[in-house]
Amino acid sequence: CAAAALVVRHRMKSSGKWARALSILKEFEEKCGTPSSKLKQVADAMTVEMHAGLASEGGSKLKMIISYVHNFPTGDEKGLFYALDLGGTNFRVLRVHLGGKESRVVKQEFEEVSIPAHLMTGSSDELFDYIASALAKFVATESDSQHVSPGRQRELGFTFSFPVRQTSISSGTLIKWTKGFSVEDTVGQDVVGELTKAIERAGLDMRVAALVNDTVGTLAGGRYNNPDVAAAVILGTGTNAAYVEHAHAIPKWHGLLPKSGEMVINMEWGNFRSSHLPLTEYDQALDAGSLNPGEQILEKMISGMYLGEIVRRVLCKMAEEAAIFGDTVPPKLKIPFILRTPHTSAMHHDTSPDLKVVATKLKDILEISNTSLKLRKLIVEVCDIVATRGARLSAAGIVGILKKLGRDTVKDGEKQKSVVALDGGLYEHYTKFRTCMENTLWELLGEEASENIAVEHSMDGSGIGAALLAASHSQYIEVEEP
Ligand code: BGC
Ligand code: MG
Repeated sequence: CAAAALVVRHRMKSSGKWARALSILKEFEEKCGTPSSKLKQVADAMTVEMHAGLASEGGSKLKMIISYVHNFPTGDEKGLFYALDLGGTNFRVLRVHLGGKESRVVKQEFEEVSIPAHLMTGSSDELFDYIASALAKFVATESDSQHVSPGRQRELGFTFSFPVRQTSISSGTLIKWTKGFSVEDTVGQDVVGELTKAIERAGLDMRVAALVNDTVGTLAGGRYNNPDVAAAVILGTGTNAAYVEHAHAIPKWHGLLPKSGEMVINMEWGNFRSSHLPLTEYDQALDAGSLNPGEQILEKMISGMYLGEIVRRVLCKMAEEAAIFGDTVPPKLKIPFILRTPHTSAMHHDTSPDLKVVATKLKDILEISNTSLKLRKLIVEVCDIVATRGARLSAAGIVGILKKLGRDTVKDGEKQKSVVALDGGLYEHYTKFRTCMENTLWELLGEEASENIAVEHSMDGSGIGAALLAASHSQYIEVEEP
C-alpha cells in the first residue's frame, strides 16, 4: 500500500476501474494456480528435500529435526501428568490422569491463557515467568485426590511449537522464533532450562520430562488411539508436519539405533521453499515486511497467521489501482494484519444471497460501507483463491511425506493403512480449506492409493500427546501389577 499509488484515479470511468480490478484478480488467480502437475512437482521437491535434510545437518531448508521420540506411549502409563502447550497467541496448561491399560485417560482438565502481545516480543524471563505463574495457579487447583504420591515430583510434557534443535527428549535449543514471536534472548538457549528456571522462580516443584513440537505431540496423541497413525500435520497459526522414519534412513543420526528401529522426525516444513511454489508479488511483499524475512515461505502461503494478510494485500492493490472502494484507499485497509484469517473464512463461507456477512466484516473490520454485491463477490473470489492455493499446497506436502514412506502407491495389492493425524485451527474451523485439502489429497493419490490413506482430526492431540510422552519418559516408571 504505497502512498505513491494514490494517484488521481477518480477520473477513470467506473467501467474502466472495474476492468482493472478484474484484471488484477485474473492475474492473481493465474499466479496462484496449482494444477495437479504443479502439485506433483511440489510433492517431489518435498521428498527430495526430506532426503537432503536427513542426510546432513543444514543439508536442506527442511531441518528434519530428530525428536528423540522412538517409542510411543503404550497405554500402560499411569499417574497424574501435566502438559504445557505454547505455540500461538494462547497457551494451554493441562492435567491428565492416566489410568493404565484398562482405563487409559481417566480425566483431563485444561485451561487456556492468552499471551499479552508485548510478551511476544519482550524478554525471555518475562515470557517464561508469565507462563510459569499461570502453570503454578493451575497446579494449585489440584484436588486432594489428585496429588502425586508423596516424595514424587510432578512431571510435565512441554509442547513448544517452534524450531528447536533437540539435544535429548527433554532438552533443546531454540533455533529461531516463528509466527510473530520475537524474543531475541531466548534464541540459542535451552528452552527447558528457561522454563525450569521460571518454574523455580514461581516456587513450583516440577520437572520437564519431555520437550516436544506440537506435531510430535499430535503424532503421539494420534497413535495412542490409532496404531496406523504414521504422520501428523498442523494447519493452524503456523504449519508443520512430523512423521515416523526408519532410524537407519537418517544418515545424520550418529547415536545408537533405537530398539524400535524408528525415530520421529519434526520436519519443520513451514520453512520449505521451491521454485515450483506459486509465489506472487503479494507473497514477496508480505515476506519482506515480516519479522522473519526469507524464512517460513511455505508457512506464509498456507497458514492461518498469513491467509487474511494476503487477502488484505490484494484488496489494497485493487483499492489503489482500481479504486474499488472509491477515490481513496480506506485507512484501515492499510494496516498490516488487520484482516485475520477467521474474518476471511467467514466471508468465504457467506451463503446469504446478498453476501451480508461480507458486508458486515467490511464494515466492522475495515470501516468500509456501501459496497455493491458485485464488489462483495469479487472479495469472496480473492478469499477463495488464497484459501485454495494454501489447501492444495498442504495436500502436496502430505503427498511428499507419503512418497518418502513409499505409501503413495499400492504395491502388490498391499493393504497397509496409513493415517495422517491433523490438528490446528485452520483445519478445524475453515471448512472450505479442509474440504479442498482433503479432495486434493485424493486427486493427487488416485483412487487405489487413496483407499489405504485416511486423515483424522486429532483433537487437542498435542497437549495430551505431550502428557503421554512425559509419562512414558517419567523418572518413576510405574509398572502395572501383573
Ligand atoms: C513452527 C513449528 C510448528 C508449527 C505449527 C511453525 O511456525 O515452526 O515448530 O510446529 O508452526 O504450530
Ligand atoms: Mg496448537
